[in-house]
Amino acid sequence: MPRYTLSKRSMSQVSSTTPSRSRNMQAIKASSNATTELRLRAHLIRNRIAGWKVRAKAVPGCPDFFFPNERIAVFVDGCFWHGCPKCGHTPKSNRPYWIKKLARNKQRDAQTRRKLRSSGFSVIHFWECQLRENASSCLQRLLTLLELSRRHS
Ligand SMILES: [Zn+2]
Repeated sequence: MPRYTLSKRSMSQVSSTTPSRSRNMQAIKASSNATTELRLRAHLIRNRIAGWKVRAKAVPGCPDFFFPNERIAVFVDGCFWHGCPKCGHTPKSNRPYWIKKLARNKQRDAQTRRKLRSSGFSVIHFWECQLRENASSCLQRLLTLLELSRRHS
């Protein structure tokens, strides 16, 4: 039977009878970051901020948004996966694994930012919760940086 004929009901039965932890976690990762990215994207469009592209693969760290003229890399990070100081947490089960995994993510983020800055890029970073709770201050920070870069170029 082709997959697309599955009803919503049978889909949810399938996923609830095969609870694979790693698959669930991947789903959480993918959906929360996609939502956060879409949120920023909507704000950029609504505020007529142009000149960016998404997921610039040629740039170190593949920023979620990238302004090529101003050389600004924008990252929107999920609070759980990137260890937000305000709302990040370590799961209680399988704790040693998560401590290691989340520490590695943070380390990689820091390395990426260092690499970008040393190559002459500006880096701006938003947490998932900041964008959700205070998008206007995120946008203000971005606009300020854009203005500064435009003035200096
Ligand atoms: Zn957070």
